Amino acid sequence: MRILLLGGTGEARELARLLTGEREHEIVSSLAGRVSAPIRPVGEVRVGGFGGADGLRDWLADNRMELVIDATHPFAGVITANAAQATARLGLPMIRLSRPGWTAGPGDRWYRVPDLAAAADTAAGLGDRVLLTIGRQGVAAFAGHTRPWYLIRAIDPPTDQLPPRHEILLARGPFTVSDESELLTRHRIDVVVTKDSGGTATAAKLTAARIAGIPVVVVDRPTLPSGVTVVTTVDEAREVLSAWVAAGRSGRPGGRR
Ligand code: NAP
Repeated sequence: MRILLLGGTGEARELARLLTGEREHEIVSSLAGRVSAPIRPVGEVRVGGFGGADGLRDWLADNRMELVIDATHPFAGVITANAAQATARLGLPMIRLSRPGWTAGPGDRWYRVPDLAAAADTAAGLGDRVLLTIGRQGVAAFAGHTRPWYLIRAIDPPTDQLPPRHEILLARGPFTVSDESELLTRHRIDVVVTKDSGGTATAAKLTAARIAGIPVVVVDRPTLPSGVTVVTTVDEAREVLSAWVAAGRSGRPGGRR
């Protein structure tokens, strides 16, 4: 079966590695091309946008794809919506692999907000020295806040408008709790801002913030489109796919809808 695997995450690379090893599948991984030196998945890879939902629909048809697995980051809401629209129009199944979000535990001081604009307002009310760990996109939401100082951590330098008082820290996870604790102390951080990305690779900052008693502003995920099969792990994605193939590819692949 010819499968488009929308990637840019560790889960997508893991799935590409596992499915490429299965004889019955032909996998094409797709990367947006945002990061200058991406970690490439094994197997066939294409890079760059498709040109919206219409462009993706045409690409899927031209390349005779039979299924889309969207294993992009939980906050990559545009490509997820485009993939849902394109597959619906072609009558193709789509599986959305999205790792579970984080949940607060004892000692956490979390402030959940619906979007980056609310995160900027909330963080500015909580502290003067803010660690921004939202990636380089979306930093513009903080540009209008002139009082706090921001430590902006990202893999590549941000290109959007930035808040006047800031320092850029280029780094790629995973990070350890001791790395994160040292970072919070060295920069005298008094509030952390993060997206609810989930997973372990970037969770150490949450533990470090808890230990330091620092508040964390957590941005909620975009809502998932309807009509799409949702799974939360690489194993679950493979199980759902195998079961659907074994059942003669009829109906939609199983899992939560
Ligand atoms: P997005 O806002 O949902 O998508 C914006 C546009 O980027 C899409 O309309 C599409 O362009 C293109 N695009 C996104 N993912 C693509 C993919 N896998 N293959 C081909 N084109 C893709 O996406 P984003 O949040 O910018 O994320 C871009 C990439 O970075 C994704 O691969 C995602 O997994 C990864 N990533 C994102 C985050 C995050 O916090 N958002 C964090 C880590 C990794 P066209 O409309 O032209 O098709």
